[in-house]
Formats: sequence, structure tokens, C-alpha cells
Amino acid sequence: MTSPPTDQSVRSADRERMISALCVDELAAIVDLVVWVEPVDGVPTAHAANHLGRTRLHPGGRQEVLAGIDPIASQDPMAFLPYAAPHGELANPCPTSSRDNAYPYAAERLLSFFADPDRSPDLAIVHTPRHFFPDEGGHVGEHGSLDVIQSRAPLLLSGAGIRRLGMVHEHARLVDVGPTLAVLAGVDETDLRDAHGDPLDGRPLTAYLTGAAPRAVVGILWDGAHCSDLLHLAEAGELPNVARLIDRGLALRGGAVAQFPSITLTNHTSILTGVGPGRHGVMGNVYFDRATGEQVVPNDETTWHRSGEWLHDSVRTIFELVPGFTACIDEAIDRGSDYSTMGLIRASGSGTGAGGLGDQLPDAATSPFLSDQRFISDDAYFRWGVQVDDMGLEQMRRLYAGGLASAPKLTWWANVVTDAGHHAGGPRSEPARESLRQADARLGVFLDLLDARGELDDVAVLLTADHGFEGSDPACTGSWRPALDAVGVAYRDEGPGFVYLL
Ligand SMILES: [Zn+2]
Repeated sequence: MTSPPTDQSVRSADRERMISALCVDELAAIVDLVVWVEPVDGVPTAHAANHLGRTRLHPGGRQEVLAGIDPIASQDPMAFLPYAAPHGELANPCPTSSRDNAYPYAAERLLSFFADPDRSPDLAIVHTPRHFFPDEGGHVGEHGSLDVIQSRAPLLLSGAGIRRLGMVHEHARLVDVGPTLAVLAGVDETDLRDAHGDPLDGRPLTAYLTGAAPRAVVGILWDGAHCSDLLHLAEAGELPNVARLIDRGLALRGGAVAQFPSITLTNHTSILTGVGPGRHGVMGNVYFDRATGEQVVPNDETTWHRSGEWLHDSVRTIFELVPGFTACIDEAIDRGSDYSTMGLIRASGSGTGAGGLGDQLPDAATSPFLSDQRFISDDAYFRWGVQVDDMGLEQMRRLYAGGLASAPKLTWWANVVTDAGHHAGGPRSEPARESLRQADARLGVFLDLLDARGELDDVAVLLTADHGFEGSDPACTGSWRPALDAVGVAYRDEGPGFVYLL
């Protein structure tokens, strides 16, 4: 005797029909993977499928093929390295098949992404690296995938309290960044817990620390900066200030693995809370909330200053963990910081958020960091990035003008032009490299300021990003929307790629 179908079993059947509609040869050029979590013997379990077959993913890396060929051939976080090797990224910049790609920590990242009962979608569609979808918000350079290159952010540690190891053939995870900054700023490892007392998802990278306490800690984010090209340019002498950091510390060749999706606000939040999206609640730059029945758009100039509203109560930001004066420059996730750009915007009462800053931002055309007007002449995002980053450097100068005696114990300094440069042309493109050189020059101004006061050796500096980037193929277009519509089930597709059954 079978029991009548529950809502849950209807939902599972609908999801199955969606998965079948997406895992067809006709969509193989744009659908890299369909991913979801469903219970197996009562335990939430990650799954991935595409036109090749279907696999079950277990924490620790074990995979169980359920049908056809396993679509995930590798979870190696060090895949496509060394950069210039025959099997490296330079020779294989855009894998055509998921069998030629790698998806690090696939189970762990999917289990977190699908853990929120209200905000996680029923399934997620991972775009192929080649997919170009300008009509739905896509760019020449893109990120968001579960794959290794879009998930690989740089990670450099330098200065006081950091071991001088140079280039290290290792990787970490972005959830490790916040705990590492907190420990450097004096937080005891046993206090790295959320508001419920639960341990964080990330761990402090103590293997790279000397145990000495820096007088100040500075975490720097270059949004979307491509890990391997950044290290390549630093080694080639084109990013002298990144090289200066590596000389006084270390860089991980494998960078830090982003949470899924490898999207901006999800990973800014994971960095600054030390937990994945299933715990902090920021599922993407756009997501749907079943509890309120509303679309949430936290990553927008009109809403960044409100991001605290979307964080779950259980999380603690590093600004809430670290005692003493903390500062948060050009960053949405600023809860608990004593000085923050978004705090200034909230205090101004601007109804349009950071959009209301427009008049106060410095002129991009006269920026000392812009090498050529053509980068800003027809790219409004790049132009705005130059303005915001010039304003960010100015805030850093003011915060450190009186030296370390009056500077914050912990400062977080986000930069945005690197995201604009990589979206505009993809990794290694002229705008991408222009944006990295600009960020390097701004970093140099700050390091010189510390050096001039004889305080550079007293500061720990961490440099990272929120995700990587891959270049799409302008010839690889198309949408999965007709295939989903044909299933006849009511749904929302946010992102696009995050499918909520209604
Ligand atoms: Zn980003």
C-alpha cells in the first residue's frame, strides 16, 4: 500500500522533470551541470547531472555514478596548474566538456548552498564556461560556476606574523580568510564561533603564521582578480606591489576556493563571516525568499548599505569578532565595523544608497591610476570602478594618516575595478590587466605610506578576491528557458541558473 503523494514528493517529481529537460544533448553547449540536494536514507546528499550522466557527491570527494558517465571527472583544487604547463590553464582556457574540468569541494559547497529552507533554490544550473548570455546579464568574462577556475581567488599573506615562504603549491578556501584575519588580529582560535556557539566552516591558516602579533591587520579584496594571471604578472615584474607582498610573505598557487555560486556577494559574505551561504543566507547577487515571497537583490548600488538585513542572525562578522577599532572600506558586509563606507551612506539617509554618492566621487578621467581614457570611454562599470577605488584609497589614506597609533586594528579594503576589467574582456584581456595594474598602484600608495612612517613591518596584509573568471565564447549563445517552460511547471529562474519551483 502506498501513501498519498506529499508536497515533497510532488516537488521531487517536478524537479526530476526539470532535470531531464535540461540534461539533453541539445543544451550541452550551455548547460555544464545541473546540481541539487535531495535526501538519501534521510541524509541530504548532493547530486550533479548533465547530458552524459548523473553522480552522487559525498563530502571528502567520494562519487557514486547513478547513470551513464560521471559528469564530474575531477575535484582537484590544483587543476590547470602550473598555469603555463601543457595541461595548465593558458593552454586550456575554456574547457568544452565537464569531463575536462574540475569542481573542487563539490559536495561540501553544494550542501551549503542548498541548506537554506527559504532561500536555496530547488536546483541550480551551472553555465558552461563558454556560455555567452548578454541578454540575461552575461558578460565576455564570467564567473558563478562550480568549476575550479571561476572558483579560484588569489590568496597572499604578507608582513608581520606571516612566514616568508614565497610561492607555495597549495590552496585554501575563502571561508578560511575571515578566521585567519581574526586570529592575526588577536582573536583566540577557540572563539571562532558563530552567535549560536557553533564552529565556523573555515579554519585559520595557522600553518602560514609565525605566532607573532601584528600591530594592525589589513585584508584587501580585489573583486574578481584572476589568481593565476595576477601571480604571473607579479612574477613578470608587472605588478611590483603584489611582488612586494610575496617577498615579505607568501602566495598560494591554488589560491582560495570560493563558495558556490562563485558570485560576488555570496563570497564577500563567506569571507567576512567564515561560513558558507547555507549559514549566512546570501545565496547570490539575486535570489528568491520563499518566506517573504520576494525577490532579493542585495548586490546593487541601491541596496549594498542594507546588506545587514539579509544576514542570518546566527552569523558573526569578523568586525563583530575582533575587539578594538575596525574599519570596512567600500564593502557591503560591514556589520559591526566602527568605520564603514556603507555606514556613511546609511547616515546620509540617501534613498538611492551608493548610487547617491555619484556626485561626490572623484572624476575617473583625471585619475592618476588610469593609463588610457579608452578603458572608461564606453564602459560605465569600469569608469565607476575607477571612481570608487580612488575614493577607497582616499579613505585608507585618512584612516592611516596618523600612523598605527590611531589606525584600526583590523581594516577590510574592497576594490571593484578588477571585476569591471575582467567582465569587460575576460582574464588576460587588456582591460583585465589594466585593472590589475591600477589596483597594484593603489596598493603601492598605501604600502609606501606605511613604509614612510617605518611601520610597514608591523602590519599583516592579506590580499584576496571573491571569485575567479573565465572568458566566454561569443558564438556560444542560447537559453535553457524554452526547455524549462516546456515542462509545464511553475518556476522562477534567478541569476539565471537558480530555479525555484513555485
Ligand atoms: Zn565579484
